[in-house]
Amino acid sequence: MATMMHDDGAGGLLDNLAELSNLTSETILDQLKRRYEANLIYTYVGDILVATNPYQMLPIYTEEVQEMYKGASNKQLPPHIFAVADRAYEAMLYSQVDQCFVISGESGAGKTESTKKIVQHIVELCRAGNTELEDRIKTVNVFLEAFGNAKTVMNNNSSRFGKYLELRFDRSGAVQGATLSHYLLEKSRISFRNDGEQNFHIFYQLFAGLKDEGRLEHYGLAKPSDHNYLRGAGAPSDEQVLSSHFGQEWREVMGSFEFIGFAKGQTNSMIDMLVAILHIGDITFEPAPHDSVTITCTDKHLALIAKLLKISFEELKNAIVATRNITRGELVTRNFDEEKAAANRDATAKAIYARIFSWIFRSINDILKGNASHDCLVLGLLDIFGFENFKINSLEQMCINITNEQLQQFFNQHIFVYEQEEYKKEGVDFSKIDFVDNQATLDLFLKKPQGIFSILDEESRFPKATDLTFTEKCTAALTSHPSRAFKPPRSQRDLCFTITHYAGTVEYQSTNFLEKNRDTLSQDVISVLAASTDPLVSQLFDPTANANATVSTNKRQQSLTAGFKVSLVDLVKRLKQCHPHFVRCIKPNAEQMASRWEEDLVSRQLTYSGVLETIKIRKMGYSFRLPFQEFVTRYKIIAYKFHENPMQSSETCQVICSHAKLDDYQVGHNKVFMKYNHAEVLADLQREQ
Ligand code: ATP
Ligand code: MG
Repeated sequence: MATMMHDDGAGGLLDNLAELSNLTSETILDQLKRRYEANLIYTYVGDILVATNPYQMLPIYTEEVQEMYKGASNKQLPPHIFAVADRAYEAMLYSQVDQCFVISGESGAGKTESTKKIVQHIVELCRAGNTELEDRIKTVNVFLEAFGNAKTVMNNNSSRFGKYLELRFDRSGAVQGATLSHYLLEKSRISFRNDGEQNFHIFYQLFAGLKDEGRLEHYGLAKPSDHNYLRGAGAPSDEQVLSSHFGQEWREVMGSFEFIGFAKGQTNSMIDMLVAILHIGDITFEPAPHDSVTITCTDKHLALIAKLLKISFEELKNAIVATRNITRGELVTRNFDEEKAAANRDATAKAIYARIFSWIFRSINDILKGNASHDCLVLGLLDIFGFENFKINSLEQMCINITNEQLQQFFNQHIFVYEQEEYKKEGVDFSKIDFVDNQATLDLFLKKPQGIFSILDEESRFPKATDLTFTEKCTAALTSHPSRAFKPPRSQRDLCFTITHYAGTVEYQSTNFLEKNRDTLSQDVISVLAASTDPLVSQLFDPTANANATVSTNKRQQSLTAGFKVSLVDLVKRLKQCHPHFVRCIKPNAEQMASRWEEDLVSRQLTYSGVLETIKIRKMGYSFRLPFQEFVTRYKIIAYKFHENPMQSSETCQVICSHAKLDDYQVGHNKVFMKYNHAEVLADLQREQ
């Protein structure tokens, strides 16, 4: 069997690395580096797109370029994110099968930007459809980034939540509607940030934007550094906040709210709630007798919070420092000590923010819903938080990294496992490819009853358990786990453990794991907020509304990781229903700088993302395959006359393939297996007839 191989020639750059004649990590790295230096940031690996972050605006997303890439599947064009978008849209229409984009890479690699480019191109492709809806879809990003993104040490505009956007089309390709799902907002950022990191952009935008709208008189906001939630090592200075791009961004956010169709009253309530969050962060306590606390900030301060949230001043005061229960007909008050009161204060602020965030998503979905037809085709775009490894990693990083671990498995399954199974089933020759199967690492977290999450949930339900007992239980149960990914703390009393993920080894600090996982909000706080005379505040805390599981008064509140697990399973289920298109984003340097290539950093990303193995299987494998019937219908014109109707059999397929002079294909029991580049060869011949 002849093997299809193009030589790259001396010093030539290849658009598709599957064409490399000498396939090693070094040759791949060399190609990517030289392409990057020539500002060629996109490269194919078979049908997977590798996108290297240029950290500078390149003139490659203009209307002209977009026009050029329309119908890209049938043209010979350099690799581009628009081409991938085009291919998926075409495939959806042609095969009438749902498609999804799985965009992965570590924090700062360019996933969110890639997602935006795909949306930009798809919106352009279906211009003839519902244009208002198309513009709305594009606008949504403005406030998602304002509310969901923040500066971290890895990325100045890091997504602190995951999102899955589903665009729905009718059978002719006109956009009908869209749905946005969000995963795991890192709400702990409201009250705590690592050094060098910031709170969500919206708070700084608010400061800069409310300048002339009674910021001080109405909202009691003088300068950012007055507020605990905006202070910390690495926080921007007051001047930086007030004089920078934040003001302009605020106007854009407000413009988007208006454009999308939020009522003015609701937008105002939301602003009041955001301001209230900042003031809640400034509630201070001092210890009082009998393990209780007194509030040390002024009544005026509390009154302002009560006014902004339209709740009772007295009830707010009580709900912050104690909890009241009716036990056997009697009112029992339990005071909080200083630590609990502070945790209760922060939980209140975080809950308000998380509920604003969910409300924005719900509202967007109502507006983007469009025609609710069941007979539609879907293009899904997954943009999650990238793999993270900070100095201090907590439960949030763990969830983020497991999501990435799960996506890597989806990728492996698709590229390696399904391929091999399909070859076997069809009786097609193949050489077995080795890849790193990370199922055991996923089991380490997710398997019941001995996975980290099960142990964490079990401990979270047990009042006497502590972060130390949790760490000890993990050590006892998981040190000899088959994944060999768990490493216990060095000393027995350390609150930490180490996990070897597919993308690197991360040390997690288990301090506050139980508290974070319980994710409880005092019933008293919920009641006070639910009784607000502001319709939005009361709606967000209405215990009878089923929108948020943690509001429920009757059911046991769902733990953070239990909720996370449910959404992860749901996400994978949705992805599996689609034909995937993979985009692997690569971060060229850790400094977020243009024209800087750090070999080790890139090499590590290429290794863990399985790019080398992918090239091997793409080169050896048959990524383009069609059932006999479809193959004959599409391509019979290459070997037969127009009026001829050959049998849709393996023999006919053989005839067509040899007419097309395909040099390395196989005909299985039901399908023709071809190389990634054969689609193009056949399409060219088809057009020539
Ligand atoms: P996270 O996981 O932290 O959300 P991410 O992978 O989504 O990271 P992005 O926010 O998409 O990363 O990219 C980080 C930054 O890199 C962007 O803010 C932008 O400055 C730059 N960048 C990414 N892609 C491009 C591009 N195609 N052209 C120009 N700049 C880019
Ligand atoms: Mg992002």
